[in-house]
Amino acid sequence: MTTGQRGKLIAPRIKGWCPGAWRPMASGDGLLVRVRPPLGRLSRHQMLALCEAAETFGSGLIELTSRANLQLRGVSEASWPGLMDFLVEHGLVDPDPHVERRPPLMLAPDWQTGDATFEAARLLLDRLDELPALPAKWGLAIDAGAAPRLNEASADLRIERAAAGSLLVRTDGRALGTPVDSPAAAVELLLRLAHWFAESGGREAGRMRCHTAPLPGWAPAVMPPAKPGPRLALGPYLEGKGAWGRVVGLPFGRAPAAALRAAVDSATVIAVRVTPWRRLLIEGEAPTSVPGLLDDERDPRLGVDVCPGAPFCEQASVETLALAERLSGRIEGSVHVSGCGKGCARQEPADLCLSGRDGRFDLIVGGRADGRPIATGLDESEALEMVSRRWVR
Ligand code: SF4
Repeated sequence: MTTGQRGKLIAPRIKGWCPGAWRPMASGDGLLVRVRPPLGRLSRHQMLALCEAAETFGSGLIELTSRANLQLRGVSEASWPGLMDFLVEHGLVDPDPHVERRPPLMLAPDWQTGDATFEAARLLLDRLDELPALPAKWGLAIDAGAAPRLNEASADLRIERAAAGSLLVRTDGRALGTPVDSPAAAVELLLRLAHWFAESGGREAGRMRCHTAPLPGWAPAVMPPAKPGPRLALGPYLEGKGAWGRVVGLPFGRAPAAALRAAVDSATVIAVRVTPWRRLLIEGEAPTSVPGLLDDERDPRLGVDVCPGAPFCEQASVETLALAERLSGRIEGSVHVSGCGKGCARQEPADLCLSGRDGRFDLIVGGRADGRPIATGLDESEALEMVSRRWVR
């Protein structure tokens, strides 16, 4: 496919749609181009190519989203076709733009070849074309280890593990799921539930958690998932008897490509896996400490969820990153700083949330970015002062 053909196929400026690579989103600092690593994993060479792409075609920053995708910022419309050629050449983007329109698939990052998560993902990837047309924000998760890890990540349908050990398919928003006896049965049920959603008015509801129709009789929700496991901790990741890899963090979900290159540019590194927690799992032997990345679980920046805000996002009317830095480590509990009520960085309620609106902040306690504020119209100093009076530890 030629660059010219691509230009005709896809208009870069798209709103109200999850951005991709073929459908980049216009942002405050240029186009935002999102890459979905297949099975949540990039080889070392692909990761190095992504770093090169960020520096050659974008701003040099790489972001890791709360749905475990990697994105480049600051891409100009003129350089986007060249970037697409580069991404396709390195297997970072499928040459068929329609592949990207399927719901994204998130995997528990510690899957192993042959385990239930891997098997279900392999089967589902072969059958994604059987899904009906679904709302743009839809997502799927396969999280079939002994303890689910993706319970806080956004997904409309999940394949999980029940406390009793069997596999489970669970619709988002419902506490119980339907037990199944194999990865193939789980995939079959997931596809049927996606069709049920589409045919029972789910598209109007948008997301599964908003769709209140009773589940069909052939998918009885009777079993809870196993107790969630922890996020992968920063530092050495141990599997079996030896070190299997290293988990590194991206401060506020973003890092310079140079820092990521320094973490993976060694023959001892095999691949990189993405997570929805602003952390990457590097397979193999990675350096113990890389400037620009986090390697200490006590780093205060880990306690704050923040989106890029202004000037990076066109929908933001406030800057967020500096405020997040100032709040880091000062508040007891979870903190969310959001450029607007959309709350891209965190869908779950936070103990404290500062959410931008009309150039000022709303202060929300125990809620989401679009929750009911206890104070409105705060500038950054007022927000800090109010927070300091009541919540600073
Ligand atoms: S929450 Fe709003 S400001 Fe922040 S990235 Fe999402 S749309 Fe942009």
